[in-house]
Amino acid sequence: MSDGEKSILQANINRDSVEDKAKDLSSWTKSFLKKHEYKRELEKHHIWRVVSFLSMLRHWFLILLTVFLNVFVLGIFQIPSYSCEFDPNVTVSGLLLIPRPWNCWSAYQYVILYFFGVIHFVLSFWMVVEYFVCEKPNFLYEVPLFKAVVNGIKNCIRNDIPLLSKKFKWIDTIKESEDSECFDIYLFSFSPIYRVLFLLFSLLSIGTFGYFYCLCLPYIFLNIDVMQDIVKAISRRSKQLFLMACFILSLLLIYAVLSFAIMSSFFNPGENNQFCTTLWECYITVIREGLLDGFGAISVTHVGQNGANFNIYLWRAVFDLIFFVVISTISLEVITAILVDTFSELRQEKDTAEKDQKSVCFVCGIDNDDFERRGKGFAKHYHCDHNIYSYMYFILHIKSMSPHDHNAIEKYVSDKFENDDIDFYPLHKAKVLGGLVLKKKDMKGMIDEMLMNT
Ligand SMILES: [Zn+2]
Repeated sequence: MSDGEKSILQANINRDSVEDKAKDLSSWTKSFLKKHEYKRELEKHHIWRVVSFLSMLRHWFLILLTVFLNVFVLGIFQIPSYSCEFDPNVTVSGLLLIPRPWNCWSAYQYVILYFFGVIHFVLSFWMVVEYFVCEKPNFLYEVPLFKAVVNGIKNCIRNDIPLLSKKFKWIDTIKESEDSECFDIYLFSFSPIYRVLFLLFSLLSIGTFGYFYCLCLPYIFLNIDVMQDIVKAISRRSKQLFLMACFILSLLLIYAVLSFAIMSSFFNPGENNQFCTTLWECYITVIREGLLDGFGAISVTHVGQNGANFNIYLWRAVFDLIFFVVISTISLEVITAILVDTFSELRQEKDTAEKDQKSVCFVCGIDNDDFERRGKGFAKHYHCDHNIYSYMYFILHIKSMSPHDHNAIEKYVSDKFENDDIDFYPLHKAKVLGGLVLKKKDMKGMIDEMLMNT
């Protein structure tokens, strides 16, 4: 088991009670078994063994090459002068003027960028193929946000409109899709999608001599904890963030309609590029000016107004301040609060997991203190007697054998594991402590019961 897989397991396993831990450990073991069996099938191919062996080297080389190409582009991109042999710019739809710095390059600059660009593309292709082949058995072919919306509608119909649910029986037959489990990954989540985009950016960079290499840079941070926490926080609260964004866009539409109906004369497209001759133009102007300036950029005097007018200024002050309070202050702050809350929730989960790891044995659930006082120390027990990976490897070992070769213990564990029975885990038991150890609260309950009986 790789270090990455171990840290995913440690961070996500259910730690509610010792029984929950054992049940979840069985689920993770099953997921690991599925992954391991698939990996063994892949390793039968000679080429795959070479690819896996060089995987880490490819990873670091791709990172170095991405940084090098970005630094190179940073150093040589400049607006070409018109003295260059070719047209230095290209006009797209009369709207964008894209400089073509390569028109003035010398031969060695072309060679460097093409040479390393092609290597970058080959390594990117390797990275994407390796990722998708490796993770194939773990992909869930669902869109998390779409799944959350469908589950929400189903629950709403079941709980709030039972009549409809009774009339249309098929609603109850729809199986509620579960959250992702163990090593599973949503195919339409950030990590797989970004890897495909990375390959696309690498290809486009060759065609444009480096314009898209900057978009490859986030790859460097893909496996860093902070980046993973950001992606996790956004995906965990994707439903709330999506609904909040829809709510803000609805409020902005109300403001756009009001602006179109009573304020269109304040928008001056000639001077400030503030368009409001159609409702669509007004909506786009309200979104841009409203979110960036809170209407501060839109003039308080309407077109053709003679001198200052306090009454107009008064209702504009009310209009603008309501916008500022409702949208700029409350709604946007709610989005920040959702993200901050999720970060603190993730931090708390990590702290709880770390504290649990240090204070209680994962397998038997006995406190650290008991091993320090009566055993040979908690560290020895945790790493040698009840090492969770030893349990996983043991199950892996018996699953790799023919059932006819199992001895009595292996058959017992194999049968229990197949039937999702957790009896084979030594819950509340440790040989080093002489057998069954009751939890402190159970012990207190027993003493209270004894006192009451006497
Ligand atoms: Zn233990």
